[in-house]
Amino acid sequence: MKKPKNNASWNPGPKNIKNALIAALIIVGVLFVLHRLIELGRNVQVLSYSEFLEKTDLDLIRKVYISGQEVEGILKDGTRFETVIGQNSNDWDKLRAHGVEFSVISPANQLNIWYLFLFSCLLASIWAIWYFIRQTRGGNNNGGGGGNIFTMGKSGARMFMPSSIKENFNSVAGADEAKEELADVVDFLKNPKKYQRLGAKITRGVLLIGEPGNGKTLLARAVAGEANCPFFSISGSNFIEVFVGVGAARVRDLFAQARKNAPCIIFIDEIDAVGRHRGSGMGGGNDEREQTLNQLLAEMDGFEVATTPIIVIAATNRVDVLDKALLRPGRFDRRVNVPYPDLKSREDILAVHIKNVKVDPLVDLKKIAQGTPGFSGADLSNLINEAAIIASKENKDMVTTVDFEEARDKALLGKEVKSIMLTPEDKKLIAYHEAGHALVRLLLPEHSDPLHKVTIIPRGSALGVTHYLPEREKYITTKEEMEASIMSALGGRVAEEIEFNTLTTGAYSDFQAANQIARNMVCKYGMSPELGTIIYSQRNGEFEYSQKTAEKIDAEVQRITTLYHTQTRTLLDANRDKLTTLAQALIEKETLQADEIYALLDITPRQAHKFI
Ligand code: ADP
Ligand code: ZN
Repeated sequence: MKKPKNNASWNPGPKNIKNALIAALIIVGVLFVLHRLIELGRNVQVLSYSEFLEKTDLDLIRKVYISGQEVEGILKDGTRFETVIGQNSNDWDKLRAHGVEFSVISPANQLNIWYLFLFSCLLASIWAIWYFIRQTRGGNNNGGGGGNIFTMGKSGARMFMPSSIKENFNSVAGADEAKEELADVVDFLKNPKKYQRLGAKITRGVLLIGEPGNGKTLLARAVAGEANCPFFSISGSNFIEVFVGVGAARVRDLFAQARKNAPCIIFIDEIDAVGRHRGSGMGGGNDEREQTLNQLLAEMDGFEVATTPIIVIAATNRVDVLDKALLRPGRFDRRVNVPYPDLKSREDILAVHIKNVKVDPLVDLKKIAQGTPGFSGADLSNLINEAAIIASKENKDMVTTVDFEEARDKALLGKEVKSIMLTPEDKKLIAYHEAGHALVRLLLPEHSDPLHKVTIIPRGSALGVTHYLPEREKYITTKEEMEASIMSALGGRVAEEIEFNTLTTGAYSDFQAANQIARNMVCKYGMSPELGTIIYSQRNGEFEYSQKTAEKIDAEVQRITTLYHTQTRTLLDANRDKLTTLAQALIEKETLQADEIYALLDITPRQAHKFI
């Protein structure tokens, strides 16, 4: 999600300060006027010194209070008066002579009253400043907060009531896996009692992983829409402020609000902003981030999901940098990939967004989808909008294919840096490469992890990906399994060799992986007859073995790698028809699930390992 403009956060901008000052002035003014009014109400006569002496002589005065040279008093007819007298203590004798009751007040007492008055003015202004900042912030808060005066602790999250959430699962095209995973969450939020009854363990945190624009925010909102529950939304970067402790206070506040509104969803976009693993110091602001992260962890542990149904959904495209503590059971233990859409999904996304636009019936969405590999959901939605703008400029009645093509070309120009656009030749190469990886796995079924899916949709820096499912936590790996891993890593390059008879740069990271395994076999696991069962280690970059041994190790790693390269070549040469079938299917569909591949190649899926 894009950062919301004018996000509700601690923002003592010039406008707020001005408001606060105005408020303070008004309050001081009002107090001043009140003070005056009270004085007036007391109906005080101001007497000159001579008048005062005269009234004393005429026995008109009942009582006076003397404070230094200032005198306040009451006449016998009840009128109040004040005056200023000289420093002449004869006056006191005179008052006594005329039977006037008088008391002397220390001038300090009088001053105190003024100080008290000024002090209350000051307090009033400070209060006014806080009040105004809180008001301005509260306005953006969509009514999400209790009466917390310490405004910096306010979460800054935005709260959406169910009635304002228009999204549901139908708004999200494609992303079937993600929707499937999230269906459980919806069911739980709709009916938490059902789960309480049996004391089932419920995930409280779901991590949506994927590049920006692929619908993570959309999915989270759709969950809230489906479950008909409130939705709190904040971006990880909004937690972090200059002041240490603010982020933690915001997290606390957010969860406090959520608890009041459960069942509900908390959505934290860009969680990597807070959730980077601790101690990865990048200098300043680190304390703040760690405190915020610790608070988040504490809050996630601090409620019982069954009785307080809050589901925290977080989004990131950087799982690799997240603190491991976030991924532990009871926190974000459910991970859902939200990848770039494949061909079919792109078509579906276009179909969802095109509803709002008047389109020429001749426009073929499938064609547009074919021409936009590497586009995210957001890119596709922009594409339609851009096409509509182009058509409007030309005063057309509807958006036509030409407009879409123009919009696409425009988008491609801007995209180059951001993501990878593939030419048909690139696409073919990647398809064969990935088919090579996958096919080796399938042909060495005993020793390799089962296939999950294969895709040629670029993701991050990788062009294509072949996903495997390790079926169990592996504590021991056999030599055969390591061989299979090397061979399938080399399978990508070998497929390229076979089909194109040229060498490309695409296999660099495959070689890295293969070499690492081969080296470990030799140096760590005693799997090379030549070098025997000895551990050859390096410490702090220093070899703990001789130059001669180092040469032997290198030769052995090379021998193993070449051996497996030849074996892989033989294997794929013998199955060239399968390679072609698989690669062509990938070009066509871009993503294939394991069962589709089994059916396509007529291979019987291997039985999964049994749990022991
Ligand atoms: P993310 O949170 O992953 O960055 P968003 O959810 O903010 O992505 O997506 C941005 C916009 O792109 C959405 O509001 C929606 O219009 C469009 N979009 C993305 N993915 C999809 C999808 N699968 N189906 C429909 N629209 C999508
Ligand atoms: Zn590869």
